[in-house]
Amino acid sequence: MIESLLRENIRNLKPYSSARSEFKGKADIFLDANENPFKGKYSRYPDPLAMNLKRLLSNHKQISLEQIFIGNGSDEAIDLLIRAFCEPGKDAIRVLDPSYGMYEVSASINDIKILRSPLTQLFGLDPKFSNTEWSENEKILFICSPNNPSGNCFDIEIIRSLIETYPGIVVVDEAYIDFAEQTSATVLVEDYNNIVILQTMSKASGSAGLRIGMAFAQKEIINIFNRVKPPYNVSQIAQEAAISQLNNRAEIAAQINKIKAQRAWLENELKQLTIVKKVFPSQANFLLVRVSDAESTYHNLMNKGIIVRKRDGMLHCDQTIRITVGTAAENRKLIETLKNSGNETGN
Ligand SMILES: *Cc1c(COP(=O)(O)O)cnc(C)c1O
Repeated sequence: MIESLLRENIRNLKPYSSARSEFKGKADIFLDANENPFKGKYSRYPDPLAMNLKRLLSNHKQISLEQIFIGNGSDEAIDLLIRAFCEPGKDAIRVLDPSYGMYEVSASINDIKILRSPLTQLFGLDPKFSNTEWSENEKILFICSPNNPSGNCFDIEIIRSLIETYPGIVVVDEAYIDFAEQTSATVLVEDYNNIVILQTMSKASGSAGLRIGMAFAQKEIINIFNRVKPPYNVSQIAQEAAISQLNNRAEIAAQINKIKAQRAWLENELKQLTIVKKVFPSQANFLLVRVSDAESTYHNLMNKGIIVRKRDGMLHCDQTIRITVGTAAENRKLIETLKNSGNETGN
């Protein structure tokens, strides 16, 4: 079934093959890749499949090695999925609206149509969604859980039923799952060959600068990623740094707990401000906040050197800003600034 969803040129693709991946024995002289022979820390090409990093992830996440893909950020995985499955000028992806912007950007760059299924005012799945008439040319459904920009999760059983009814690939983007109470949809990988889970080291793992994204899926889809990806898509520095970061798990876990405690503090403080109309409950490390005047709140904060994200162009997001949970000191400063700017404008 997965093969038949692929673009024809990808089905027939002969992937780039390096001499080193073709050679199975053991060698100690490498004259195949035009590298500089003098020994240096970075003189050799990196491991194309990032096996050491995958072994560690496989252990931590209890997912088998062959069900893991490592990308140059999860944004690379999004792009590769679209390029592998969607025929430019013909096929479509489906997104829930509002959601993460990169699905649409990647689709547009590749000349792929975008079908939007609106969420409810509170960003839940519309009960009518299950009656959607799927388009013949739609290939991928993107579900972001916890959702960006709203912060809510979709129930794992809802996700399961979507996987069972959707005629193409279902991508569950779990960039923020480490901040959520909900269990990861990786538990579904064993049961379905059309699910792809995306996670990233950019958010909870504190390594946005490394550009390490992960996709978890059955072997068939992982092999497709590996065929389509640039051969050396993750640098050696990034692979090594990711490994040492993953060996730092206790510290990351403590940071996640602090961020969750700060999220609760921030939510409570925001709710007491008169300019704040609503704080949407969040399972992520940000809060979507409806204020009386998003534009002026955004500019007032910016003038004080505090950058937040204006989200009020998005569906159901009128007069909202999205605020990332910072350190305790940063969050206090934010609240103080909002209190003062509220006074200045007479709110
Ligand atoms: C931040 C974010 C990502 C990030 O991806 P990387 O490329 O791994 O940094 C992916 N999905 C969502 C929903 C995000 O918010």
